[in-house]
Amino acid sequence: MTTAFGPVPFALVLASRNAHKARELETLLAPWTLEPLAAEVELPPETGETFAENAAVKALAAARATGRPALADDSGIEAAALGGAPGVRSARFAGEHATDEDNLTKLLRAVPPGGDRRVAYVCALALADPAEEGPPQLFEARCEGTLAEHPRGDGGFGYDPAFLPADLPDGRTMAELSPEEKDAISHRGRAARALAARLRQRAGSGP
Ligand code: IMP
Repeated sequence: MTTAFGPVPFALVLASRNAHKARELETLLAPWTLEPLAAEVELPPETGETFAENAAVKALAAARATGRPALADDSGIEAAALGGAPGVRSARFAGEHATDEDNLTKLLRAVPPGGDRRVAYVCALALADPAEEGPPQLFEARCEGTLAEHPRGDGGFGYDPAFLPADLPDGRTMAELSPEEKDAISHRGRAARALAARLRQRAGSGP
């Protein structure tokens, strides 16, 4: 079948260089495929105040640079005790070049032990089509949970070792779930399934 984008399923350029996000999105969006963004394409700085804003800017930049449909993921964790921080600054919470471990350590120190330990993951996916006028399409989803006192598990990435998901309340952190279990309840899983439904719908209504 052929759509405005070409034959279905087509490849989307992934406007991200985060290998963890790429691996999760690749599984979630199959049979659509993801192409890495060429090294010479520069992604704009994430200066937006919302996940949606940052995702839209990244997707548009990649679509403009490549002339291809592009997908961006902006995501992070919000802690209730910190008024929603680190939020859009999750990747740089402990500094511009902070590692996942630095960021997680800072979050565990910042949230008081006996206090409000509610956290939520948020993911905004933006799909920019160079053939279309107007803003990228946005798909946003959340995953609620609480912050564990001590990190556990080797799976996932980022804040996963301390994220206890409300949807699977058996005491395991996100990093102790299988990739399939994480995908079924995660912010990225939910947003990607909404995007995949939209892609299927477009394919169905193609010429
Ligand atoms: P950005 O979207 O590139 O600004 O970075 C998102 C940051 O949020 C990552 O560096 C992680 O620290 C965190 N994050 C996003 N999604 C997840 C997830 O699924 N698990 C754990 N941490 C995540």
